[in-house]
Amino acid sequence: MYEHSNTAFKHEIKEQCGVAAIASKSKASSYIYYCLRALQHRGQEAVGIAVFNKKIESYKGIGLAANVFDDKKIKSLKGKTGIGHTYYSIKLSKPENAQPTIIKTEVGEIALAHNGILVNAEKLRKQLKKKGHDFTLGCEEEVVGYLLADHLRSSGDLIKAIKSTLSEIQGSYSFTMMLNGRVFGIRDPLGIKPLCLGKFKDGHVIVSESVALDVIDANMIRDVYPGELVEINQDGFESHQLFNKKHRAHCFFEYTYFARADSEIDGRSVYETRKRIGWRLAKEHPVSADIVIPVPDSGRAHAFGFSLGSGIPLAEGLMKNRYVARTFIMPTQKLRDLTVREKVNPIKSEVEGKRVVLVDDSIVRGTTMKRIVNMVRNANAREVHVRIGTPPLISPCYLGIDMTTRDQFIAHKNTIEEIRKNLDADSLGYISVCGLLEALLFSKSDLCLGCVTEKYPIDIPPEKHRFQHTIQDYE
Ligand code: SF4
Repeated sequence: MYEHSNTAFKHEIKEQCGVAAIASKSKASSYIYYCLRALQHRGQEAVGIAVFNKKIESYKGIGLAANVFDDKKIKSLKGKTGIGHTYYSIKLSKPENAQPTIIKTEVGEIALAHNGILVNAEKLRKQLKKKGHDFTLGCEEEVVGYLLADHLRSSGDLIKAIKSTLSEIQGSYSFTMMLNGRVFGIRDPLGIKPLCLGKFKDGHVIVSESVALDVIDANMIRDVYPGELVEINQDGFESHQLFNKKHRAHCFFEYTYFARADSEIDGRSVYETRKRIGWRLAKEHPVSADIVIPVPDSGRAHAFGFSLGSGIPLAEGLMKNRYVARTFIMPTQKLRDLTVREKVNPIKSEVEGKRVVLVDDSIVRGTTMKRIVNMVRNANAREVHVRIGTPPLISPCYLGIDMTTRDQFIAHKNTIEEIRKNLDADSLGYISVCGLLEALLFSKSDLCLGCVTEKYPIDIPPEKHRFQHTIQDYE
């Protein structure tokens, strides 16, 4: 069973969804299936594929792609064009919430797969209800589908209708969409979520991350540009640049934590970026130590960079059990401790008597790191220093990551020294926002840094009311 390391071990914070689209000379469903498996780290709760075979046919289910689909189900989906989705929901998963969402409208069936969050979906839903639309699914994609149907009915031109629809929605979105057998990828005007375009032997493909191109032996053509609509077919693609913003707002967290290290996003290798972060971290927070140990697996590239930047050798001091099934949140502290212990265990011979630097990508609540520090101390490490490749998380994400309240962040209410004491570490250092920007090779105005600066690239109504850090501050 495929399981991404981030979610298998830490599962403190989660991405919301991965998307795929295929236009092929042969059946699309098996290509989509393999793309979804490669995107499984972007959502493990549900998965779905929709294809066009004279009409839209789909199959969706709760669970991982490998569990939901078998040969028979994939073969039963016969179209040459299709879209797919891996799903994570903050709310309780219900089979009917799995995507692609199929919206029946007067202009035909629309299939939509969405990565992101629309911050004005509720307001639009109320307006559409007043116009007589009957909402049966209760999801954001239904809002998009009805808006699109209304615009298409009045303009008769699909591209214009998509542009008018996108002009009304606010938030983060990378969509794949299918209408009457035509397949599209759409990226929001700030490029908050990743989306890329590729070519393979049988056609063209659009996916959330380049790892899903690799898995079907597709070559990357390029990232979908922020504000761009791309229509793919077997032989090529057509681009419509619908919006041109002065700046971008790529989610920095894709680079530090969410995306797979073997992906390339917006011209940057995620792995190389993490290494640069580790290198900067070593310069910002030097320490005398004997070994650098990555917290497996998400801290691996950061630790490698830290080792290069500090000259301290890298060691496999923590071993991960790859065969532990995904566990859910345990009701008691004792069970939670056991869960971490079952998944990661120190190698005593590496750790004993040594001054250890533990390197991880981020700290949310701090509970996992505290248990790991404790484990390494119990394995007789002489000193335990902690270095973190994301600046202190202090503010919620309103744009598609499962970090919804300030209270969950240990850094929201505590100083670095208080966090160090809480972790029982000998020293603690986080990468600075400046250091992060240097490592990412983006200017500040081209990134979303909302969860570490409280300044968001778009107006977020609840945030605006409480904290007034909005686009005005950002520009
Ligand atoms: S607030 Fe943080 S996690 Fe959310 S989109 Fe912005 S950078 Fe990414």
